[in-house]
Amino acid sequence: MIEIKDLNKSYHMGSNSLHVLKGIDFSVKEGEMVSIMGSSGSGKSTFLNILGMLDEADSGSYTLDGKPIKNLNEKVAAKYRNQFLGFIFQSFNLINYKSALDNVAMPLYYQGVKRAERMEKALHYLEKVGLAQWATHLPNELSGGQKQRVAIARALASDPKVLLADEPTGALDTQTSYEVMELIQNINDEGKTILLVTHEDDIAHMTKRIVNLKDGLIIDDSNVTQVRASVAKNKHLQSKQTSN
Ligand code: ADP
Ligand code: MG
Repeated sequence: MIEIKDLNKSYHMGSNSLHVLKGIDFSVKEGEMVSIMGSSGSGKSTFLNILGMLDEADSGSYTLDGKPIKNLNEKVAAKYRNQFLGFIFQSFNLINYKSALDNVAMPLYYQGVKRAERMEKALHYLEKVGLAQWATHLPNELSGGQKQRVAIARALASDPKVLLADEPTGALDTQTSYEVMELIQNINDEGKTILLVTHEDDIAHMTKRIVNLKDGLIIDDSNVTQVRASVAKNKHLQSKQTSN
């Protein structure tokens, strides 16, 4: 699904430059769920943004679902982004003056889907994340976990090939984090390819594969025993009860 070879990225500020990604090789098969770990500033978001076509590498090759992602004109790039990629962020990035339903319907609007079908699909995805009853509510009437579920529904609405998540639990408490991870695991169980950036070890272990970024390179890429978020959540609740 994803094939990356010798990817490089630097940022330039005046006479200073910062070489963030120093020749990354990386590939992901369809249906995989992978965590990208690394300390703050290690380049996780930079890497994910390039994978998500929100940013471009300086050199190296990127093939997404068999298509070379290089020197695309903005129209084709936008089409690929819309068709192939769904993004979720730590800060949810919902549109505050639009209802949950309209937020989820947004990517479909950009795909040119007709209104009736947009609304039907958006409701389907809101149901999928357990929020059908909240369809008409605005983001500020929802909890953090609910906002992230709306964002997940929005990312899924266009049925992307790959779901990219940048610290999706970063703004959530532990229990809510596990609930959101449970949803993300279920989406992966249904076959969706998922890349998740996190600096939290317990969140990373909820995927089957963990890639570690350090000093601009992948220093470790290993398969781990995946922790089911539902089990982790129950353990967390039990330990809270015994400590109360
Ligand atoms: P992470 O997500 O792992 O915390 P980032 O990819 O956000 O890391 O950032 C990697 C490094 O690149 C950091 O040192 C950061 O300050 C720098 N950086 C990120 N984005 C930019 C930018 N747009 N311009 C300049 N420097 C940047
Ligand atoms: Mg980041």
